[in-house]
Amino acid sequence: MPTYLRNPVEFVRGVGTRLWDDEDNEYLDFLTGISVAQVGHCHPHVVEAVREQAGRLMHVGNLYYTEPGMRLAGRLSEQSLGGKVFLCNSGTEAIECAIKLARRHKPGGDLVVLKGGFHGRTMGALSATPDDTKQAPFAPLVPGFRVASRESPLPVDQGTAAVIIEPIQGESGIHPVQPELLASAREACDANGALLVFDEIQCGMGRTGTLWAWQQLGVRPNLMTVAKGLGGGMPIGACITDPAHADVLRPGDHGSTFAGGPVICAAANAVLDVVEDPAVLRAVAGTGERLAAGLRALGLEVRGLGLMLAFRADDAPSLVRRALLEERLVLNATGPDTVRLLPPLTVSDDEIDDAVRRIGALLA
Ligand code: PLP
Repeated sequence: MPTYLRNPVEFVRGVGTRLWDDEDNEYLDFLTGISVAQVGHCHPHVVEAVREQAGRLMHVGNLYYTEPGMRLAGRLSEQSLGGKVFLCNSGTEAIECAIKLARRHKPGGDLVVLKGGFHGRTMGALSATPDDTKQAPFAPLVPGFRVASRESPLPVDQGTAAVIIEPIQGESGIHPVQPELLASAREACDANGALLVFDEIQCGMGRTGTLWAWQQLGVRPNLMTVAKGLGGGMPIGACITDPAHADVLRPGDHGSTFAGGPVICAAANAVLDVVEDPAVLRAVAGTGERLAAGLRALGLEVRGLGLMLAFRADDAPSLVRRALLEERLVLNATGPDTVRLLPPLTVSDDEIDDAVRRIGALLA
């Protein structure tokens, strides 16, 4: 179906920050499939984990335990909120789980979402994504969502089941939510028995220089959603709870046939092995600064955190297309005036300088 506006390039192979097309032209990938190839394309540790697990056991379903799935859930919990984990197949499914958990927590409760947030394309996640161009063609939406602006107090009261926030809004153009707003959401949720949900699907998994963005923003959520970079290229999502809400969803409340399959979980465990390395996380702060400084030196207005960056450009879609076809640099436009950069966490200083040089050549 014509749901994607595809570029006229066919990629056949990738290694680290590099991609090759079907004519063997080499590209520098500063998008990583929108923050998915988190540790670079075909990282040997991830490839080996997938190969090994694919030859051992691919699927048994969720009526049984598998070691990769249990290990992954344990690690995700230990490294974040300390409760339980629902594994699924994508970001939007992780959000669906959070929505259902919130409704189970407070039956009939409202869900407060922030303008500019993006949470996915299934009907629940779409209803949480207050963007008229995305929502309007598919009305009626799921009822019970209230939209808050980032400037005024959040409309949270005793009828609120959850507040869902993307701490750094990615799809709408890399807009960090002010820490004061996150703190006031925490207070309002505590005062009203509502759950604070952080969608870390794009800003998590080390993208900002800490494993989760909230770890440097000073506010701890009750639930968080993760996906994208978690699988390093394999489809996976996770909804993670704090201990107090670990058993809100009960047997039979939710499920998915493929979710948490052993091959995908083996891949995610391997990605975590790389991303958890403090040296990798420390490097993100440095490479992120280098990239931002390089772009600013070109006279560009840059925003974002770590390796989740964007700059303003007139006619961003055409700049991105020229970057791909003329400079063989993979970037993305999140709107008419914003170019987004999401290179792998393993990007080198030389690759950053090279990407900045290519962007400079385009702007010259
Ligand atoms: N939430 C955020 C913050 C996202 O950036 C995305 C995807 O871009 C999603 C949810 C939906 O994830 P998926 O496309 O895996 O369903």
